Amino acid sequence: MAQPKFKAAGEYAQIPLEQVFQQFKTSSAGISGQEATKRLAKFGQNTIQRGHRQSQFKLFIKNFTSLMAILLWVSGIIALFAGMLELAIAIWAVNLINGIFSFWQEHAAQKATDSLRQMLPAYTQVLRDGQQQRVDAADLVPGDIFTIQAGNSISADARLISATGLQVDESALTGESVPESKTVAYQPGDGKFAESNIVYAGTMAASGDAQAIALNTGMATEFGQIAQLTQNQKQNVSPLQKELNHLTQQISLLAILIGVLFFILAIFFVHYPIAKSFIFALGMIVAFIPEGLLPTVTLSLAQGVQRMAKKHALVKDLSSVETLGETTVICSDKTGTLTQNQMTVNHIWLPSGEYKVSGQGYVNNGQIQTDQQPYTFGHNHDLDLLLQISVLNNNTTVKAPQTADKQAKILGTPTEAALIILAEKAQLDLPSLQAKLPRQTEFPFDSERKRMTTIQNDHGQLTAYVKGALDGLLAISTLILDNGQVRPLTEQDRQTILAADKNYAAAGLRSLAVAYRQLPVQQAEWQQADVEQQLTFVGLTIMADPPRPEIYAAVAKCHAANIRIIMVTGDSALTAKSIACKIGITSDQARVVTGDELAAMSDAELKTALSGELIFARVAPEQKYRVVTMLQSMGEVVASTGDGVNDAPALKKADIGIAMGMTGTDVAKDAADMILTDDNFASIVAAIEEGRTVYSNIQKFLLYILNSNLPEAAPSVVFLFSRGLIPLPLTVMQILTVDLGTDMLPALGLGAERSEPGIMAQPPRAHNAHLLNRQLLWKAFGWYGLIAAILSTAGYFIANHVNGWTLATLANSGLDYRQATTMTLATIIFCQIAAALNCRTKRSSVFRIGLFSNRRIIGGIIFEVLLLLALMYQPELQLIFNTAPLRGSEWLYLLAIPIPLILIDEVRKYWSRRRVVTS
Ligand code: ATP
Repeated sequence: MAQPKFKAAGEYAQIPLEQVFQQFKTSSAGISGQEATKRLAKFGQNTIQRGHRQSQFKLFIKNFTSLMAILLWVSGIIALFAGMLELAIAIWAVNLINGIFSFWQEHAAQKATDSLRQMLPAYTQVLRDGQQQRVDAADLVPGDIFTIQAGNSISADARLISATGLQVDESALTGESVPESKTVAYQPGDGKFAESNIVYAGTMAASGDAQAIALNTGMATEFGQIAQLTQNQKQNVSPLQKELNHLTQQISLLAILIGVLFFILAIFFVHYPIAKSFIFALGMIVAFIPEGLLPTVTLSLAQGVQRMAKKHALVKDLSSVETLGETTVICSDKTGTLTQNQMTVNHIWLPSGEYKVSGQGYVNNGQIQTDQQPYTFGHNHDLDLLLQISVLNNNTTVKAPQTADKQAKILGTPTEAALIILAEKAQLDLPSLQAKLPRQTEFPFDSERKRMTTIQNDHGQLTAYVKGALDGLLAISTLILDNGQVRPLTEQDRQTILAADKNYAAAGLRSLAVAYRQLPVQQAEWQQADVEQQLTFVGLTIMADPPRPEIYAAVAKCHAANIRIIMVTGDSALTAKSIACKIGITSDQARVVTGDELAAMSDAELKTALSGELIFARVAPEQKYRVVTMLQSMGEVVASTGDGVNDAPALKKADIGIAMGMTGTDVAKDAADMILTDDNFASIVAAIEEGRTVYSNIQKFLLYILNSNLPEAAPSVVFLFSRGLIPLPLTVMQILTVDLGTDMLPALGLGAERSEPGIMAQPPRAHNAHLLNRQLLWKAFGWYGLIAAILSTAGYFIANHVNGWTLATLANSGLDYRQATTMTLATIIFCQIAAALNCRTKRSSVFRIGLFSNRRIIGGIIFEVLLLLALMYQPELQLIFNTAPLRGSEWLYLLAIPIPLILIDEVRKYWSRRRVVTS
C-alpha cells in the first residue's frame, strides 16, 4: 500500500506559513505526543528503503557457475558417459553441497553487515506538547516542528519557520557540493530543490541552525522517491577480497595447467583410458583450486565487523577491517575521546578572587563556596554576571535527575551542561532569567573562532554575551570587570589572567572565558565581527574532564603495538600537554604545536616536527587535514577522529576516518569509515586489535586450506611417475571429500579464532603486505603439507603391508585396495586435524590459548571424524568413495598422528617466539 503523502514540499514554498500550519494541523508549539503516534501509524516510519538488492536467487546461482563448479558439472557428465553413474552423482552432489555452503556463508556475511545499519539510529529534536524532545528520526511525522543544527542531517522535507545562518549541503540530492543558503523568506532560486525556505530530507546542515515544519517524511520525501528508483546498491569490494580473487584466479589457472599436463601424462605415459584420465586430472585440479576461500574470507571479515560492533566500533565496509590492522598512527581528539566528556566546573576565577565549586559530574549535589558558605545567586555582582552569561549564552538543556544518585539528562553539549549545573548550584532561576533577558541573536559556536556570542535584550538595552577560549577572547577584550567596576584591561591584568589560567591548565583543567559588551544602538541585523570586539572580560569557569579510566591501558597497548598517538585538540596547549602526559601518550618533553604555529610551518618543518613527540593544541579541525596528509606522505597509515562538520575533510582523507557516535554530527559520521558508539579511544584500539586478528585469521585458514594440497596431489604424482605400477593411492572422490567436505568446517572455525596473545605486541604489518607471503607458502607446502604428504603416502603403504602386499605387487582393486586408499584418506584427515589445531596460533603455544577453546574447530573436527566413519562403515558410501573399514592397528597409526604433529609444531613455535624475543 502506498504511503499517504502531502503535495511535494516545493509546493508549500509560497503559501503563508500560517496556512501551512493549518493544513498540517499543527502550531508553533508542535503537535501533541498522542497525535504524533496517530500520524506515525498513518504515514509510516520516516525511513528510506533502498532499491532492492541483487536478488538472492542470482546470488544463489552464482555459486554454481564459478569456474570450479562448471568443471565439476562437466566432469559429472563425462563420468556419466563413461558409465560411472555413482561417481557422476557423487561429483554433482558434492558440487551442490559446496555451492549451498558458499551461499550460506555469503548470506550470513550480508546479514552481519546489514544488522550494523540498525545500530546507528539518528535522532531529531522535536517540539511536542510544547516541549523539546529528542526522538528517533524514524518517528518524525508530518506536522512535527523540529530543530536543524549545523552538522546534522535533515530528517524530512520541511518548510523553515526560523533560521540563523543556515547553509545546507544538498549534494546528495542535486550533486552540487557548495552549500546553499536557506532563509525563512521565499526566493525561488534556480532549478529543482532551490526554494530558499524549503529544506529536503537526506541533505545536511553545513552551518547555522533552524526550526522547520515537517511536510513529507520517509519514502514520501523527494529523497525517498529517488532512492526508490535507484537499483542495486553498490557493493564495495575490499582490497583483500580483490587480492584473493586474483589469487584464486592465478592458482586456478595453475591448477588447470597441471591438470592438463597430468591428463596428457595419464593417457600417454600410463596409457589410461581418456575418460578415466580426465577424471584423474580433475582430481588434481580440484585439489589445487582453493574453492571455499572467498566466501570464507567474506564471512570472516563480516564476523570481525560484528565483533567490532560489540566493542562499540561500527565499521561501514569490510575493507576498513583490513586497514585497521595496518594502522600506524592515530590522530585523536582529546575531549570526550581520551577524556570522559563529563565536565564539572570546579573553580570560578574572577579578577576579584577565586571560588571553589563542589559536586561531581552532572549530579547537582554540590555548591559554589564563598568563605565556606554556599553561594546563592544575587549576592555578588561579578559572580552573578558570570553565571548569567554562562546560562543565557547556552543552548543546552539539562533535565534534573530522578534520584540524587542518577545523572542528569542533557540535551546539548557537556561543556554547556556543566555551566547550567553550576548555576543551579547557586539556585539561579533560569526560566525567569530567560524571560527577563530574551535572546535576540546568536552567533553559534564554531571551532574556528572557538567562541559563541548571543545578544540578549534587557528592556531595550542590548548586551552581547560571549563565552569561549581564553586566548581568543582576551585578544578582543579592552575592558575588565573587577569588583563591580569596569575599567580598562591593562597588560598587567592580562598577565594575571593568563597566569591563573596556566595554573589550572597545568593540572589538566579546562577553562572557558566569559565576557560581555553593551551594544550601543538597536540594529536590525548584527554582523559578528562588529559585535565580537571591545569586550569586557568577566572571568573564567574552570572545568575538570577526567581521562577515561580505560584509557591508560589502551594507550599502553598502542605503544606496545608500535602505534603512535598524536593528540590533535581544540583545547589549550597546557591542558592538552598535561592530559597527554598524565595518560602516557607523550613524555613531558613533547613539543606542543598550536594551530597558529602550524599555520606558519612549512611542509618540511611539519615533517620534522611529526617525526618527534608531538601534540597539536588549539587547532582548527581544518588543520587536521594537513596533518593527516603529511603523515600519509611519510608512509604512515593514519586513523583520525573527528566530530564536527569541519572534521569531514580530514575524516575522508584519513585511511580510517573515525566519527563519534554520541557527540558527532551526521556530517562527520557520513564522512567516516568507522563510528564509535561510545566515543571512546579504547574502542579504536579494540577495533585495531580485531582488525589485526581478522587478517591473521584469514592467513591461518589460507594456510590450513593450502596445506592439504600437497598430500592430495602427492598420490597422483606417485601413480603417474610409477607409470601406474603404484595404483592411485587417493581417488578423485576422496580428494573431493577432503577439499569440499572435511576441510570446510575447521577452516570456518579458524576464521573465527580469537586474538592471539601478543597480537598487539607486534608492529603493524606493512602497508599492502601480501596475504600469501613466502613464509606462508613455505609453511603450507614445505612444512605442514610435506609432513602430511609423507605420512599419508606411508599410510597407504602400511595398509598394503598389513594386507601382505609387497612394493612390487600392490593391491589395485578389491577390498585391500579400498582399505589402502581409505588409509591415505584417513591419514590426510588426521593430519588436517592436527593442522587445524596447529594453525590456530602463529607463535603462541596452542595449549596457552586452550586446545579446546575454539568450539567451532572442535565441532569441525568431530564432524570430520564422523564423516570419515560414515564413509568407512556405510556400505553405499563405501561403494562411491572406494572406502573400507580399517583394522585396529591402522586406527592406532591414525590416532597417533596428531600428537607428534602438534608437538613438533609446538617446538617450531617455541623457536619462533625465542627468535622474536632475541631479535
Ligand atoms: P577536542 O578538539 O579535543 O575535542 P575541545 O572540545 O576543546 O577539544 P573544540 O570543541 O574545538 O575542542 O573547542 C575548542 C575550544 O572552544 C574549547 O577549548 C573551549 O575553550 C571553547 N568552547 C568549547 N565549547 C564551547 C561552547 N559551547 N561555547 C563557547 N566556547 C566553547
